[in-house]
Amino acid sequence: QKIRLGIIYGGKSSEHEVSLRTAMSIMQAVDANKYEVTPVYVQLDGSWVTGERLTGQLPDKIEALRLSAKTPAITEATETGQELAVTSKSGSLFAMNEQMDVVFPVVHGPFGEDGTIQGLLELANIPYVGTGVMASAVGMDKWMMKTVFAQAGLPQVKYVGLLRSQWEKGQDDVMDRIERDLGYPCFVKPANMGSSVGINKAKNREELKHALEVAAKFDRRLIVEEFVQARELEIGVLGNEELMTSVVGEVIAAKEFYDYEAKYKGAGTELSIPAIVPGHVSEQIAEIAKQAFQALDGSGLSRVDFFWDEKNDKLYINEVNTMPGFTPFSMYPMLFQAAGVSYSELIDRLVQLAIERHADKG
Ligand code: ATP
Ligand code: MG
Ligand code: MG
Ligand code: MG
Repeated sequence: QKIRLGIIYGGKSSEHEVSLRTAMSIMQAVDANKYEVTPVYVQLDGSWVTGERLTGQLPDKIEALRLSAKTPAITEATETGQELAVTSKSGSLFAMNEQMDVVFPVVHGPFGEDGTIQGLLELANIPYVGTGVMASAVGMDKWMMKTVFAQAGLPQVKYVGLLRSQWEKGQDDVMDRIERDLGYPCFVKPANMGSSVGINKAKNREELKHALEVAAKFDRRLIVEEFVQARELEIGVLGNEELMTSVVGEVIAAKEFYDYEAKYKGAGTELSIPAIVPGHVSEQIAEIAKQAFQALDGSGLSRVDFFWDEKNDKLYINEVNTMPGFTPFSMYPMLFQAAGVSYSELIDRLVQLAIERHADKG
């Protein structure tokens, strides 16, 4: 008997497009003899549509993804919600638990990766791939995540968290504090975001002001971090309570940092898998990644990002991404491919983990 797999994708966030690519790849990769797929598309306006199949030229688009895999960031950014529209049917969520055995929510960012869809699926009593409500919510908010990492004693860069209202009320006070506690350069980020959206590096007070203004457009919670001159290393974690880690990979961004363009337009970004680093570094990364995953009470999957200051041999955890990019050419699946788990095998395992976790909650 086939597993009825719902794939929820799209979403109301800046990472809508990324999600479309992930969903497309999964639909393309799953074994039609094993799964009956129902696409559920969350449109940019937040409305849900569901149906039997996707319209549009999927095989061509996958080919485009494959061609650009050399970079291997994805160069084609042509898919639009319109092209991917599904044959529209009523999208009643609570009808979903009669139609689906398990759901793979591949919505990145706010309203998806942050526990909201997970909460909906909990209410509907449907098993779903990935982290639960709490881990998703904590993992989405960089400020909260750092608080949890600190509590777990994990090494991380110095940071300052603040609210948009504090920034608006006392710009000079905020900047004085950042200069005193962190200095320049520093990184300014919206707390709830991904794909480097709204992130800027500031080298002086003028740039800091601009960076804070930009970040404040995306979120009411903001985070400013000390800059570290470091190599960027990432690892995948797979499992619920018994965890497997992938090999370690490295992101080598040609640009000043790994920004949105570098991630998805492939502007000279290289992924090196496995990363060429000493054994003790990859061992430490695997250990800290598991501790971070457990500190958040993760489940299913996460990609954990690190900074490694090679000169001083110092490692810092940057973040846990509970719903990382998941095309066959995204870092997470490629890290597991290198560890001997193929893309479609990875999907199978994640679906099994989802079902096990659901049973475990009972
Ligand atoms: P994603 O979820 O897509 O990995 P994100 O939006 O959550 O990204 P971060 O990973 O926090 O953002 O930061 C994006 C990039 O900015 C990093 O990959 C790195 O290149 C750079 N960066 C972020 N913080 C720092 C820092 N403190 N020092 C140096 N570089 C940084
Ligand atoms: Mg992130
Ligand atoms: Mg993210
Ligand atoms: Mg990151």
